[in-house]
Formats: sequence, structure tokens, C-alpha cells
Amino acid sequence: MKLIFLGPPGAGKGTQAQRIEETFSIPQLSTGDMLRAAVAAETAVGLQAKDIMARGDLVPDEVVVGIISDRIEQDDCANGFILDGFPRNVAQAEALDVMLSEKSISLDAVIELAVDPEVLIGRILKRAEESVDGPRQDDTEEALQHRLQVYEKQTAPVADFYAGKGILRTLDGMQEMDEVTAQIKAALQEI
Ligand code: AMP
Repeated sequence: MKLIFLGPPGAGKGTQAQRIEETFSIPQLSTGDMLRAAVAAETAVGLQAKDIMARGDLVPDEVVVGIISDRIEQDDCANGFILDGFPRNVAQAEALDVMLSEKSISLDAVIELAVDPEVLIGRILKRAEESVDGPRQDDTEEALQHRLQVYEKQTAPVADFYAGKGILRTLDGMQEMDEVTAQIKAALQEI
């Protein structure tokens, strides 16, 4: 199953993707996690991405498109994958379309988690406080506000892009985590 999880920062995409990863034995591919690993390892990509990520902007499209293109060719993606945090704008969604058709792969569903913007900042600040690894560099209130603006402006139109293709499923991300998981599983069983 080839899936995209879409939703603003704090919507619970990462947590839900991890659960679906286990249930369906398909890897969660988080561009945010991959970029943070690159920053920690001080690779060329990491050095390029570090400051951009800290202020909550998007790293250049060609960087993330390249990362995903390489990653989905690996053996563990043979049965599918969950893209978490990619595509982040319509240009990336279009690049993904081209990339997948070149690899003769088609997407099964795009799961969007809808959450009231007012609750997101509180959720993320709480997550940052509770994190055993310490807070992320971009979990400050200022960077967060900016990440939410970037989402509204650049990422929200990605939902319309997939709605136009008839594969968007929008679910209520305001419910309890287990209920959201149940809804995602039910939606996936229908496809
Ligand atoms: P995330 O962990 O998904 O919240 O991503 C953290 C940060 O990594 C974002 O604020 C961006 O700076 C960067 N990032 C992650 N995914 C992408 C992407 N698809 N395109 C551009 N930047 C990204």
C-alpha cells in the first residue's frame, strides 16, 4: 500500500504513521526525520538544511525530492510506504507524480488529518516538553507560528491537488489517538 499522510504540525501524523507502519508492515518515510538525521551527521544536505529547518521554512524541493526518490527504491519499500511530511507543496506533489510514474508505482490513498489550528501550538509545546530527546530546534513558539503559516500557504493546497485525483480521505484528527487509528484503518480497508 502506497500512502501519504497529510496534516499540519501537531496533527498526529507521525504517531499514526508509526501505528500503520506496524499494522501493514510498510515503512514510514518521514522527510523531517531524515533531514534531522542529516543535520546531526553534518552531511552536505544537513548543513544546507540546518538553518532553514530551525526557522521553520521548507528546504529546497530538489533536496527532498532526491531523498524520497532514493529511499523508495530500497527493498523495504517493495510492498509500499507511508510518506510523512512529503509532499509539502504542490511542486513536490507534481514531482512525486512524475517520479512514481517513472517507477510504475501508483498511490493508493492520501490520508489527511484535520485539526483545529488553535490546538496545534499547545499540542506541540507539550510534545516538546515530554520528549526524551529534548525539544526540537523548531519547537519554539516563534518557529512554530511560522511552520503553521507555511503549512496554510504551501501545504494545504496539496490536499486539493489529491482531492482532484479522487484519492484524498480527510479524517477528524481531533479525536482520541486510538479512534483516529481506527478511522485510518477503516478508510484503508475500503481501498
Ligand atoms: P517535520 O518533522 O515533518 O515537521 O519537518 C521538520 C522540518 O523539516 C520542516 O519544518 C522543514 O524545514 C523540513 N522538511 C521536512 N519535510 C520537508 C519537505 N517535504 N519539504 C521541505 N522541507 C521539509
